[in-house]
Amino acid sequence: MPLGIDRSRFYADKCRELESQSLRKDERIAQLETENAMLYLKLAQLRADVKEAKQEACQSVSGLESGAAFKASVKEKASKLRNDAQAIKIELGKMRALAKEIPVQFAHSVKRANSVMHHHQAALESHSSNVTALADQVAQLQQNLDDVTDKLGREKKRRQELHNLLMELRGNIRVHGRLRPLMEFDADNEDVTSLGRPGTRSEVVVHFVDDENICVRTSKHNKVFEYERVYSPTEKQESVFDEVQPMLTSLLDGYNVCIMAYGQTGSGKTHTMLGSHRDEDYNPSHDPHPDEGVIPRATRELFRLIEEKPEGSHTIEVSIVEVYNNDIRDLLSRDPNAKHDLVTGGDGQLSIPTVTSKSVDNVYSVMTLVQYGLRTRQESATLVHEHSSRSHLIVTLTVVSRAPSFFATKSLSSADLSSSGSSIGGLDGRQTPTFGKKGRAQSQTWTPDQLQGMQLSLQQQQQSQQQQPVIRTKLQLVDLAGSECVGMSGVKGAALREASFINKSLSALADVLGALAEHRTHVPYRNSRLTHFLQDSIGGDAKLLVLLCVSPAQRYISESLQCLGFGQRARQVQRGPTKRRLPSSAEKISGPDNSGSNRPRTGSASK
Ligand code: ADP
Ligand code: MG
Repeated sequence: MPLGIDRSRFYADKCRELESQSLRKDERIAQLETENAMLYLKLAQLRADVKEAKQEACQSVSGLESGAAFKASVKEKASKLRNDAQAIKIELGKMRALAKEIPVQFAHSVKRANSVMHHHQAALESHSSNVTALADQVAQLQQNLDDVTDKLGREKKRRQELHNLLMELRGNIRVHGRLRPLMEFDADNEDVTSLGRPGTRSEVVVHFVDDENICVRTSKHNKVFEYERVYSPTEKQESVFDEVQPMLTSLLDGYNVCIMAYGQTGSGKTHTMLGSHRDEDYNPSHDPHPDEGVIPRATRELFRLIEEKPEGSHTIEVSIVEVYNNDIRDLLSRDPNAKHDLVTGGDGQLSIPTVTSKSVDNVYSVMTLVQYGLRTRQESATLVHEHSSRSHLIVTLTVVSRAPSFFATKSLSSADLSSSGSSIGGLDGRQTPTFGKKGRAQSQTWTPDQLQGMQLSLQQQQQSQQQQPVIRTKLQLVDLAGSECVGMSGVKGAALREASFINKSLSALADVLGALAEHRTHVPYRNSRLTHFLQDSIGGDAKLLVLLCVSPAQRYISESLQCLGFGQRARQVQRGPTKRRLPSSAEKISGPDNSGSNRPRTGSASK
């Protein structure tokens, strides 16, 4: 060291200086680092600010964009509104034009309405002037209607009288012939040599000529029989019933009626009276079977006729008996073998009080009872051969009528009204006001007095109906036992007894009809139970229809001739004018009939 300076001091000083410099520098570094850190912080703050500013800027940009879209839509709406306004303006223009026209049109319409009104007013005036004339006409028509109603009542009465007259002119005994078709069984046990000449026993020898003639033609016989009606083999059950029907009207007019089938076994009696169909065909849900015979058809018709009468004025009772070996057997009884006797009632009618009599109100209940009776008949058959042809089957329908039928059909007329305060009129029914079940309302306007009169009259009629004597008329439907001539040789015991009773009863029937034909004073009704039981409905004023059933085949020739001959003799029966059953005559009757005649009534020609 040049100048003699202390080197270590120097270096020490130098070292100290450097150390202080270093210290200062460290301080500076620390200061700078602090500043740096602060600057970092500031930078981060600024960055966040920038980001926020950016977001705000972004938002402002999107806000600006939506504002533009909004502006566009507003613009569009405004233009639409402008268009609408334009259209409304046009419409308004039109409305204004229209509004200008309305008063004109209104005035026009008012004018037209006025003219129409005047027109109608004029028409109304002219119509009202016609009303009086029409009212007069209505009154006139009402009067005419009353006259016509009266006339109708009289015509009905007249028709009834004519019907009765016609029935009387036809005679009280009608005989019809029914030729059945040839059946398969007619050729049973055929033997070509049996006749002793060419021909078979099944060849047809009884021929239908026309609806009044039947002829029997064989080598020995050539005979024509004439009856009021002859049914051909092809004629249906309906044709037979067409002839029976008018008799039912007579029944309700107060006449007893009997319809009987006569003929040999197998000639068609049961077919004619009952029909050949099965039991199950009697079913209320089925239509009437076309094969139904007289019994179901007559019953059906009877109920139909009664329906036309005032309700409750007519009722029907049925009894079913067979006459077997001259005994009456009640087929509706639990003990068909019990004995029964005929008695003459206070009304002069014959009846068997011990025989079951059932009230019936429709055809099905009647047919159910008939079937029951037929079963009883079948079950109690004692002999080997067919029982049904060995006894006479009699179905009796008794019509019990409180109001005589001629009251019932007449409808109310003003003439009735005028007499409505008076008592019930005579039996000709002319003065009797009746309110039938099916009575129609009258077109006339009744005054309160008239209505009161009608009410009174109705009450009187009802009272009168209850007080009226009960009239009983009988419809007896008979399926006779086979009329074949039963040879007595070779027949023994019960069969002989049976044959003898059948022969006796059928010849008693022939005798009764013969006695009536000859107007004999004594008619031997009591010679057999059959004729005695049928006395009321075959003699006197009763209407009898004998249906002769005939087989056409050669093998039955003698039976057929006998049957046709029986019919021919019965046909000759002619009796004087008849009278129907009236309450007055019924009241006069008393005591048993001991003359053998059935004449409980007036006007008899049979005594
Ligand atoms: P009856 O009672 O007289 O003994 P039916 O009535 O039983 O005789 O008749 C004998 C048969 O002949 C039966 O099969 C019946 O169906 C038939 N018949 C009778 N008459 C006729 C007819 N007019 N038409 C068709 N078949 C009949
Ligand atoms: Mg029979």
